[in-house]
Amino acid sequence: MKTRELFGSGKTVFSFEIFPPKKDGSIETIYKTLDELTDLHPDFISVTYGAGGTAAGCSTREIVSVIKEKYHTESMAHLTCVNSTTADIDSIIAEFQQYGIENVLALRGDINPDVPPKHDFRYASDLIEYMKQRASFCFSGACYPEGYPESPSFDKDIENLKRKVDAGAEHLMSQLFFDNSQFYRFLEKARSAGIDVPIEAGIMPCVNAKSIQRMVGLCGASLPPKFTKIIARFGDNPDAMRDAGIAYANEQIIDLVSNGVDGIHLYTMNNPYVARKISEAVQSVIRI
Ligand code: FAD
Repeated sequence: MKTRELFGSGKTVFSFEIFPPKKDGSIETIYKTLDELTDLHPDFISVTYGAGGTAAGCSTREIVSVIKEKYHTESMAHLTCVNSTTADIDSIIAEFQQYGIENVLALRGDINPDVPPKHDFRYASDLIEYMKQRASFCFSGACYPEGYPESPSFDKDIENLKRKVDAGAEHLMSQLFFDNSQFYRFLEKARSAGIDVPIEAGIMPCVNAKSIQRMVGLCGASLPPKFTKIIARFGDNPDAMRDAGIAYANEQIIDLVSNGVDGIHLYTMNNPYVARKISEAVQSVIRI
């Protein structure tokens, strides 16, 4: 099923994101994670794409296929283009088609200062345009409620996001944020710029103070005082931090759903315990 078909029924779409096992993780690790995550019945699961697309002999493509074929859950492959040539993308298209993959989150990818980018694709919109002419995938794109960190301005970023939608992105998934008012401001700007595709809100439960600080450093999400107080008070106590982080994410989700958000995309960090706690807590509000 193409993910665009999940939207429009009035129900909030609820999706998960996972990453392929790290270098020393075996394929079994991901099966265990998937056993538990699919039991929560997300609308779809997306799988991130690292440099070269492979992490530990278990690629994004393999996991996306397994989610669909073995677990009968809809899936989405992330795909970056900044280090790819058109020939690389042609072979990925063929592979995706061979394995019946229907949904692609088309991304530029981060530019590594030590690896000069290839020149065939500059932006995610170039990747969508190129693939759209060759295959009938359903394309999604990334969006940034607080603006893309390297963008000259928020308005310019929205203008470029509109280009991505015009190129063929049928659904957007947001970067993580902790302040819902930032998401609502972004949504208003996007809608008034004519961006009318469904936009899922990216929620990352803060269950580990160190990793969230690193993540925030990378993506520049703003931290409301309520959130920083939680980290200051519970950051050194893993159980308390986990429970407070889950409660904070639940509150964010309930507020977003009551404001009519199209979907919630949960960055699970391959942590089924956290995904389960959140799914159970918000199940009744998501499923109406
Ligand atoms: P783009 O949409 O290409 O935008 C990049 C910059 O270029 C922005 O400043 C934008 O305003 C500007 N721009 C875009 N189009 C144009 C245009 N036509 N003309 C002029 N300027 C333009 N990274 C991974 O490596 N693997 C993953 O699996 C992964 N998954 C992600 C999932 C989500 C939900 C999100 C939000 C991000 C993810 N990322 C992932 C990170 C992403 O690759 C980086 O943020 C990357 O630096 C930007 O990718 P993009 O597709 O958003 O870029």
